[in-house]
Amino acid sequence: MSLHTPLIAGNWKMNKTATEGVELAQAVAAAVGIESAVQVVLCPPFTALAAAVAAVEGTHLSIGAQNMHDKTNGAFTGEVSAAMLRDLHVTYVILGHSERRSLFGEDDAFINRKVNAALAASLKPILCVGELLAEREAGTTNAVVKRQLELGLAGVPAAKAEQVIIAYEPVWAIGTGKTATPAMAQEVHAFIRSLLVAQFGAETAARVRILYGGSMKPDNADALLAEHDIDGGLIGGAALEAKGFVDLVRSAARSLSR
Ligand code: PEP
Repeated sequence: MSLHTPLIAGNWKMNKTATEGVELAQAVAAAVGIESAVQVVLCPPFTALAAAVAAVEGTHLSIGAQNMHDKTNGAFTGEVSAAMLRDLHVTYVILGHSERRSLFGEDDAFINRKVNAALAASLKPILCVGELLAEREAGTTNAVVKRQLELGLAGVPAAKAEQVIIAYEPVWAIGTGKTATPAMAQEVHAFIRSLLVAQFGAETAARVRILYGGSMKPDNADALLAEHDIDGGLIGGAALEAKGFVDLVRSAARSLSR
């Protein structure tokens, strides 16, 4: 059992100008800014981060980035460091999203360096793991998730593990409208929890939030969030419009009273 507030994070991907992002952040903040039962994180593109931080100031919403580099500074054209994000008052960062892995060639070792760099800078990493459709069909889901999780978290001290958020995102469910059934998702979440127990001990593992991601929508969220080891959601498409996203935050709040 996990011992913490649920977390709903919106991954805006390459959507929303800074101007559009402020509108969306303000609309979400107006609806859920005082909803203290759920931690809400908005993850705009880099160009909208500063404006989004300003837009949610004074609410309990947090802002996350969608990526970062593991080095502190230097000749890495087009990249940003953890310190640059912290300087903007960004507090979370999505790492190892399947689009970064498949479209930009990021491997587990690079993602692991980013996880450790984020923690060193007091950013909370949202580490994404999940299998491809072919891997699920071949029966290798657990092996894939185990590899991504163990390599991704290598070197993370138990004292910092609670700062890490895991997002289980079956790649075949991302942006496709196909969702893992609650039972399928719970099975993998429980497996992830067992891996966290092995690495960090039961008490710490119970405090790590494990989010589900992959076509989570208002009409399937209640059932997913009712599962024992599903501690929130990483939301793509449904995070681009305030009403649907706020409905998901409300689902997460309802899951606490069940
Ligand atoms: C994602 O990209 O992290 C995601 C979960 O997207 P969607 O909700 O659109 O499937």
